[in-house]
Amino acid sequence: MLDTMNTPPTIKGMYVGGNWVPAARTFDDLNPSDNSLYARIPDGSVEDMRRAIAAAHAAFPAWSGLRFHERAHHLLKIADTWDRRKDDFIAAAVNEGGGWFGKGIFEAGYVAEVFRSAAALCYQNIGEVLPSEHGKFSTATRWPLGVVSVISPWNMPGILTSRGFAAALAVGNTVVLKPSEDTPYAGGLYFAEIMEEAGLPKGVFNVVTCSRDSVAAVGDEMIENPLVKAVSFTGSTAVGRHIAAKAGAHLKKACVELGGKDSLIILEDADIDHSAKAANFGSFMHQGQVCMSTEKILVQESVYDEFMSKFLARAAKLRTGHTNDKNNVIGPLVNTRQALRVKALIDDAVAKGAHVELGGKCWDNFVEPTILTNVNSSMNIWNDETFGPVVIVSKFRTEDEAIAMNNDTEYGLTAAIMTESEPRALRMAEKLETGMVHVNCQNINDEPHVPFGGVKASGVGRYGGRWSIDAFTELRWITLDRGGRHFPPVF
Ligand code: NAD
Repeated sequence: MLDTMNTPPTIKGMYVGGNWVPAARTFDDLNPSDNSLYARIPDGSVEDMRRAIAAAHAAFPAWSGLRFHERAHHLLKIADTWDRRKDDFIAAAVNEGGGWFGKGIFEAGYVAEVFRSAAALCYQNIGEVLPSEHGKFSTATRWPLGVVSVISPWNMPGILTSRGFAAALAVGNTVVLKPSEDTPYAGGLYFAEIMEEAGLPKGVFNVVTCSRDSVAAVGDEMIENPLVKAVSFTGSTAVGRHIAAKAGAHLKKACVELGGKDSLIILEDADIDHSAKAANFGSFMHQGQVCMSTEKILVQESVYDEFMSKFLARAAKLRTGHTNDKNNVIGPLVNTRQALRVKALIDDAVAKGAHVELGGKCWDNFVEPTILTNVNSSMNIWNDETFGPVVIVSKFRTEDEAIAMNNDTEYGLTAAIMTESEPRALRMAEKLETGMVHVNCQNINDEPHVPFGGVKASGVGRYGGRWSIDAFTELRWITLDRGGRHFPPVF
């Protein structure tokens, strides 16, 4: 049976050049269900990061020089090693990340597929032969960049960390990873254990952990260091903006996947039972701490009452509490700062006239599943990403009104539409300002081989499948002249 007991991991150190190394200081990594100590984590410095970048740089020629299928074999071995040890990851996702065990199982299964699909990418890193005015043999070829810096968030530490670097490795880059200070084990040092066990060559993958106090300086080094060629970031829009701007100033590539304020639109011809079930999952899965969580539910007037009674009945059954009890589907928010932020959003909305249809109670790091109505754009919750188990429900009359309400945000990650009419959904999808649209499903959808990403303030670049190749390679034009290029006679 799966053991998700809080057995703390043995922290061996940071992983640099294939060695476990200490930092001068440590910081406390807490279990958010009760704020007990989960582990003491090395608080790496700029100097530690420099050493990791140098190790990745030293490993680059041999790794990029491997035949592509040899890199694929390494990635498949990583996937198999991950599968063998996945119960350890699930325990970490529950105890360090504050996730329900079912979310841990889902995430653990997904990560292995991220590595398998990256192995397949090794076979797809193809260039093109171009026509030439001069009869040259003219090619566009793809080349690895060198060292890629990867910065990952805490909410899906397995998926979002692996997605941040697997494709980069596949096409021949080497990696330095800095996981979130809230999941430095599940999103960082645990990966280092897997890479060591899978026999990845030393220096190809390095992990430096650090506290929130050190992250600004360590993060800047991950961009400014001349040996770093690109940055792969998943996290908040505020930090993503800073990273993309700094990368731009240094003329380095940056793939940044950021926040969202995603709508689920329920049209009058939708299956309302299915819509209520989907809305419950989309809004409250992992306490709403998913970038694609359903944050606004927009319901056509004529089916509003029916939807609300079904949705409220389902959401009321979700139990909130410590994740050592598997019946608690709603665990804590990841830390006290996040819990207070979400509570402040509820308080602001209620003070300005929002109605609490369900929940609203907050204690320790917990927030009950909360459904708010009568929300308007003067309230912070209409505009700010909640990233908590709180959802707004609003009515609309026409399709155009629903589209305008969906687009009334700086974000543009996903939108979802419930309707029996696929033509109607496609017509609307064209006008929704998001990188992804899902019809007859809620917002949370991802697969390792699809072009995942947002528009507007939700990010730049795409993760997944062949689109990741654009993020982690540079294109070079190489020609072979075969006597067809003539110069003016004066030369
Ligand atoms: P965050 O931006 O606070 O942290 C993300 C990472 O950035 C962490 O590793 C953190 O240590 C690091 N960081 C913080 N300040 C930094 C700095 N100055 N320089 C360099 N690195 C720095 O975000 P979070 O709280 O960990 O994650 C939640 C956010 O991530 C939400 O906004 C969510 O929507 C977003 N997210 C987006 C996606 C997506 O694919 N679009 C997926 C998951 C989460």
